[in-house]
Amino acid sequence: MEFRIGNGYDVHALAPGLPMWLGGVQIDSPTGFVAHSDGDVAIHALCDALLGALALGDIGHLFPDSSAEWKGIDSKILLSKVVALVHEKGWRVGNADITIALQKPKLAPYIGSMRTCLSEILGIGTDAVSVKATTTERLGFVGREEGAEVWASVLILK
Ligand code: MG
Repeated sequence: MEFRIGNGYDVHALAPGLPMWLGGVQIDSPTGFVAHSDGDVAIHALCDALLGALALGDIGHLFPDSSAEWKGIDSKILLSKVVALVHEKGWRVGNADITIALQKPKLAPYIGSMRTCLSEILGIGTDAVSVKATTTERLGFVGREEGAEVWASVLILK
């Protein structure tokens, strides 16, 4: 059996009055992410981790923000396309581990739904999808509520 790991990182700025999507789930928040797509920074980091494991570049390369095709797109569709690529290359996803840094709102009530949503797209059990959330103790751009950052790690195998 062959194994590969991948990691992904993404940042999006926050602005008032925009919808906030994280891990495929809409979060009740007065602010949301500025983006060409729906701004789901957690899914973007996860896509980059999968593409990293495949050594196929990044989502900006695959889905350029200069293209009208991806404007306002549901990031779950982008993730489905990346997972299809994983399968096309003969790999399957082993597990995923995601850490979201966001000052507000508290994400604890949404973690279960995010794990369910992502596990369905990844085609693996919820027990193989970890989503963790942290604040940055009011430090840095995350602490000032200017944006969020997300790290994702994945293992793929064949
Ligand atoms: Mg992004």
